Amino acid sequence: MGLVIALNKGRILKECLPLLSACGIEPDEDPDKSRKLVFASRTGGHKIIITRSADVPTYVEHGVADVGVTGKDTMLEYGEGMGFYELLDLKIGQCRMMTAGPKGLPEPGGVLRVASKFTNITRRYYQKEGRQVALIKLSGAMEIAPLLGLADTIVDIVDTGNTLIANGLEARATICDISTRLIVNRASMKTKFESVQSLVSQLSGVVASNDAARSE
Ligand code: AMP
Repeated sequence: MGLVIALNKGRILKECLPLLSACGIEPDEDPDKSRKLVFASRTGGHKIIITRSADVPTYVEHGVADVGVTGKDTMLEYGEGMGFYELLDLKIGQCRMMTAGPKGLPEPGGVLRVASKFTNITRRYYQKEGRQVALIKLSGAMEIAPLLGLADTIVDIVDTGNTLIANGLEARATICDISTRLIVNRASMKTKFESVQSLVSQLSGVVASNDAARSE
């Protein structure tokens, strides 16, 4: 039975299409060159839908997509009690969710002004730390907030750390490790068990062999 697979444009699509292709799943057109948002797979009767990254969990939770590929950051930001299962770590898009602030400046006392796109992750982190914060929601380019005096600290994704350095910031605490995950709708797990199982076992094989090649 064909699956509906939700992906998003950008990093995930670029890194994920080769993995899907190694499992025999290829969109009938190049999603990067097409304005279409729904693609048929060349074989297997699957459908690939392209959504905004933050919406992948929504499409999977509501069963519009059977499976989705999304960053752990997006899943954590989406929230607790998620209506889907996380089945596989695809070991791509590896990075960390971190706090960061101006290089060499100690964190001020009192209520900390924290800017982030990831307000749920940030709120939960500082609650656990027992630190009172004033959250400032931004949509991106968080690095600029401390520079302009909007916030004392930011919470953002860090890969090489170059973006922080370029903006006079330094990484402080790691909140969690992030990578790209395969998620599946709870009902599809039952109604399309064989197709889901087959995709998971093929993808696991590809991920394992990529992993082995990387560590050689
Ligand atoms: P870097 O300068 O290598 O530390 O990269 C940091 C910037 O790249 C961050 O502002 C993120 O928005 C973005 N980034 C890096 N890795 C990822 C990832 N795996 N997923 C999403 N965004 C990422």
